Amino acid sequence: MSAASLARETGRRLAASASLNAALHWSQALLDREAERLDQALPGSLSGTSVALKDNLVTIDHPTTCASRILEGYVSPFEATAVQRLRAAGALVAAKANMDEFAMGSSTEHSAFGRVLHPLDPDRVPGGSSGGSAALVAAGVTTTALGSETGGSVRQPASFCGVVGIKPSYGRVSRFGLVAFGSSLDCISTFGRSTSDAAQLLCAISGHDPLDATTRADPPLAMPPVRQDLRGLVVGLPREYFPADLHPGVRAGCDRAIAALKRLGAEVRDVSLPHTRFAVPTYYIVNPAEAAANLARFDGVRFGPRQVGPEGDVRALYQATRGVGFGAEVRRRILVGTFVLSAGYSDQYYSRAQAVRRLIIRDFDAVFEAGVDLLFTPTTPTPAFRAGEKIADPVQMYLADIFVCPASLAGLPALSLPVGRDLGLPVGGQLMAADRDEATMIAAAIALESALDPIAEVRA
Ligand code: GLN
Repeated sequence: MSAASLARETGRRLAASASLNAALHWSQALLDREAERLDQALPGSLSGTSVALKDNLVTIDHPTTCASRILEGYVSPFEATAVQRLRAAGALVAAKANMDEFAMGSSTEHSAFGRVLHPLDPDRVPGGSSGGSAALVAAGVTTTALGSETGGSVRQPASFCGVVGIKPSYGRVSRFGLVAFGSSLDCISTFGRSTSDAAQLLCAISGHDPLDATTRADPPLAMPPVRQDLRGLVVGLPREYFPADLHPGVRAGCDRAIAALKRLGAEVRDVSLPHTRFAVPTYYIVNPAEAAANLARFDGVRFGPRQVGPEGDVRALYQATRGVGFGAEVRRRILVGTFVLSAGYSDQYYSRAQAVRRLIIRDFDAVFEAGVDLLFTPTTPTPAFRAGEKIADPVQMYLADIFVCPASLAGLPALSLPVGRDLGLPVGGQLMAADRDEATMIAAAIALESALDPIAEVRA
């Protein structure tokens, strides 16, 4: 397909899927300009594909709002490294995708511009915070999408929407131009309808970047060789991820995937990650602390619309701008984060959370040192929940991340792939690997995918 016809077809699909509210910014004029740019460029590894970008990745042509009023209409003067790289690899940038405000949430209901609908059931959520990106890929609007992960925001919506989501090791992809949320956790991550689509996008954006001091010096990721079987591979099943009260559909989906891993020749063994139960409480101290510090820059002076307060001084300007600009969940994180960092409390909360984070990292180190190559778990405790179900109870919302935030705290690569459907709703399985071992994880996921029917009912 020529770039011009891809641009036209993508525009037609974006228009036809408008009711999902998954795209915040796109226009046919910008799509056509992308096509002209691609016609003049050399072909690359992503030629012929279209990609949606979560709206916390800065772009020079579209606005970047992080789905927040505080950045409404903001257009960045520079572009994220990951976006530059995917454009250089021949991808057509299609749209900026809706998200939870500043990536805080697990349902995309916290967007200031309205919730995203699940493509298979409009009463349900697509997950979050990269819910717009997941929905656009699941609905077949774009080939792939970029999202961001701080604590599971790509794997969790991938699981809910029945697509693949890959989070790389921390430092594998440059964060330059990703609006900062939790800087020790943030990873740009990819979505595709297949592992290979999501992995190819990841390869194209990976690698060292002098503009992000936390990127590793390693060469960019390359697609691993295809494996016909998984003989010689040891897959651990951490018992803490399979509680007795696990949702029966999720359990059935995982059982199916575990049977397929065995059929492919992998050795499957039970393992333990004993500090798993501390991951959500630890995450919800470290994350708000870093978020409160990062969001201090949004004060009405440098970015986005400005509200002048009644007193006319600078403090009134900050208060008015931030008071109008931030939604409830963002305010909650700033309040919690400021509290856990405050003098007299930071030892009790922030320093302790950092110490527990070490224990969680050591749990993973121990299993990988004992000869386990990969871990397999459910991605989420339930399939997609209903809109409104958890919005009034932040703790219930945070618990949606229980199986995804440990890998984020440990900086490890992890992916979610569809393992079947329960009562019509996708169920996701998660693979986690040792630091920088994306290659083993991606090769195993491709083999597993070929051994599973992603739309078969798991409780037939
Ligand atoms: N749901 C988690 C949170 O609200 C994860 C967010 C993310 O990964 N961006 O913080």
